[in-house]
Amino acid sequence: MSELRWDPLKQHWVIIATERGRRPRDFHTEEETVSMTSCPFCYGNEDKTPVEIFAIRPSGMPNAANWRVRVIPNKYPALRVEGEVKSRGYGLYDVMSGIGAHEVIIETPDHDRSLADLSHAEITDVLTTYRARYLDLRKDFRLRYMVIFKNHGQRAGASLQHSHSQLIAVPLIPPVASTELGVAKDYFKAKERCIFCDLIDFELNVGERVVKEFANFVTLTPYASSSPFELRLYPKRHNHDFALMNDAQLSELAVALKDMLMRVKNVLRDAAYNFILHTAPPMHHRPGKPGYWSSLEHDYHWHIELVPRLTQFAGFEWGTGFFINPTSPEDAAGFLREAEIP
Ligand SMILES: [Zn+2]
Ligand SMILES: [Zn+2]
Ligand SMILES: [Zn+2]
Repeated sequence: MSELRWDPLKQHWVIIATERGRRPRDFHTEEETVSMTSCPFCYGNEDKTPVEIFAIRPSGMPNAANWRVRVIPNKYPALRVEGEVKSRGYGLYDVMSGIGAHEVIIETPDHDRSLADLSHAEITDVLTTYRARYLDLRKDFRLRYMVIFKNHGQRAGASLQHSHSQLIAVPLIPPVASTELGVAKDYFKAKERCIFCDLIDFELNVGERVVKEFANFVTLTPYASSSPFELRLYPKRHNHDFALMNDAQLSELAVALKDMLMRVKNVLRDAAYNFILHTAPPMHHRPGKPGYWSSLEHDYHWHIELVPRLTQFAGFEWGTGFFINPTSPEDAAGFLREAEIP
């Protein structure tokens, strides 16, 4: 069983995931190249995965072929759904049972196409699946935060080539999200405005970091990007919760997301990347903290963060949390803006 452990000195939680029981030599393996016949995410291999949780399938039986998007539990989950959230002190540390969800969203039955290569309708299906999983998991009161992310390419941590994203739901708010939520809440308290809306307005006015503007979405490079060609995708109109997007909005988001991924692919020659979808956590009641989420609807603004994996996380970054970025966000935006998108 996995455990969440709190480091009081570094002020962070880690998940000690013992599921895979890795030994020293397991960390040096070469990338396995999975052939078409053995890839568990391909058509016809549905029985090689755990039983599916959700699928978009025009017809036919669950766990059979003919699906367009398929969601399954991760075979080696970092966290498990079964059990109770128990938290206790251990000396000066804190430890919590590793309860949560770890799902894999198989974006296409096609082994060789990446998310950027999928059609607008296919990407819309993927986004519709994200929304469905968020809406379902937030019914579970044990889960305080859920995040959808994607690792593309080996350098970004993808262990299987077949295009997929992942969802992890955790029994607490992770530090990165907690900082972002806290900053947004304080800003709103002081100014009665959403910090993200202010940032988007400013960047649209200045323009030099804007990569592409759509009617309702905008892609830009953050002013203090910690790594080269880092990107953000924001809805222009205030909205705290991705799961509240209607079908028309998801369809437009699919256009913007494809555009962003195509630019990254073309300009950076199919570089590995990670993206993460940051959205409002479920507003479950928190004992002892009445009104904890009272301004969430107004202060938070969902978005997608994307980081191409072009530089190595080395000693200085690891030891200081301070990043050295060799490409200015203004230059990066320029290159990405000029990319030819078919
Ligand atoms: Zn495959
Ligand atoms: Zn906003
Ligand atoms: Zn964020």
